[in-house]
Amino acid sequence: MKNYPVTAELRTCLSCGFRKVVSALNCPRCGRPIFTKDGVRKKGVLSLIFGLLWVFAVLGLTAFIVFIVAGLAVRAKSREEAESQNMTLFIMLFISGIFLSLGFSFIFSGIWQIIFAKPNHLILWLTIIFVVIGQILIFFM
Ligand SMILES: [Zn+2]
Repeated sequence: MKNYPVTAELRTCLSCGFRKVVSALNCPRCGRPIFTKDGVRKKGVLSLIFGLLWVFAVLGLTAFIVFIVAGLAVRAKSREEAESQNMTLFIMLFISGIFLSLGFSFIFSGIWQIIFAKPNHLILWLTIIFVVIGQILIFFM
């Protein structure tokens, strides 16, 4: 694999953030594959597609669960039963919101990589924190 010469080019490690003009195919810091600008953009496209599929899957699953639980709540025999089902529904929506934010962070970091040809690991955490804070605010309103 390392028998043919590789031109020195700006290469980026998507795992640890190593970014230098090198001719290596693997990261000198962590050993993972490193990518040229084009490679980083292609990975960004994959991340974007993966994120979109993820979001659609979570939305579909959430709609399905809401449909089932809401159906149960309508048929609840007592107020307590209906309230506990509403709580279940709320917890499920909260969890699916966190899964949704994961999908969105794949979409956002994919777009970032396509535009800037470098990764942004902050997006993952910012998206999740933003969504969790948003959900807590909704809960208390
Ligand atoms: Zn690395």
